Amino acid sequence: MSDKSISNIRKVDATALQEAVALLCAGELVALPTETVYGLAARADSESAVAKIYRAKGRPDFNPLIVHVPSLEAAEQIAAFDDRARALAASFWPGALTLVLPLKADAAIAPAVTAGLPTIALRCPAHPVMRAVLAKTGLPLAAPSANRSGGVSPSTADHVAASLGVDVKLILDGGAAQQGIESTIVIFRDTGWSLLRPGPITASQIAEIIGEENDVTASLSGIEAPGQLASHYAPGKPVRLDALTAEADEFHIGFGAVAGEVTLTASGDLAEAAARLYTCLHLAAGAAQPRIAIAPVPHEGIGAAINDRLSRAAT
Ligand code: AMP
Ligand code: MG
Repeated sequence: MSDKSISNIRKVDATALQEAVALLCAGELVALPTETVYGLAARADSESAVAKIYRAKGRPDFNPLIVHVPSLEAAEQIAAFDDRARALAASFWPGALTLVLPLKADAAIAPAVTAGLPTIALRCPAHPVMRAVLAKTGLPLAAPSANRSGGVSPSTADHVAASLGVDVKLILDGGAAQQGIESTIVIFRDTGWSLLRPGPITASQIAEIIGEENDVTASLSGIEAPGQLASHYAPGKPVRLDALTAEADEFHIGFGAVAGEVTLTASGDLAEAAARLYTCLHLAAGAAQPRIAIAPVPHEGIGAAINDRLSRAAT
């Protein structure tokens, strides 16, 4: 498959799903839609399958992967849940919430998945395609975003093909990812919890279930947040934030009243802005202008997660 004209993108149907399941069971990589962004999946119990994820993404091996499971029951076979973790799973699964929990000693998880940490990141996704694949394989699937490490995350199958190309045998096309931004990540400690990554489920939604975040300083430890790299989601050009107007050499991404050449949302709807974030960054990356300017985005609600991604894109 070195001929680049041969597309490995397939619209989701029963045959394509069956092919995806067969490839995953055989230890191959499959890219597929989730409700957050497109994921690059491999069976999480196979060291050689997981190694292919790190290789295809060019991802540093100290940056552990999120494992996707079909249910809380499946998750409890892999990690030790306490009442707080169960309460969050009951409220937000299936959905865009990842829980970092102690890894069970007898869990069938390849060590490369957790990068040697005693904890594991688990998520039960809501997207019907990802759920069908999880159900049919009966396997936990490691699945980071389906792009080269450090680059802009993929919201569509075409973004995946442009970033990873023929390194992935099959890209299931299930349309644009609806939420468009990676899952919220929560880590638990004996006395509290903290947010490792803001996302579609906000800190205040979590606080309503298990009380206020109360362990913020500990989350900054390098060991527990190896993947929280300052520079990430980089479009390959300088990015200027909070730009109400653009210079002649800047591609302007708008928000609300700031029109821009493309807009995250004309109406100021933050959910729409999250869903369009990476599509706009991909358009900006491919535009003629050598620089990117982005309008201010409010920090409330999912705006915190959007601003988190924008600040890393600009670093
Ligand atoms: P990605 O799969 O690219 O969306 O990123 C996964 C994120 O989860 C990275 O920021 C990782 O550092 C983080 N992560 C995965 N496993 C763990 C873990 N055991 N402890 C802390 N963070 C984790
Ligand atoms: Mg990623």
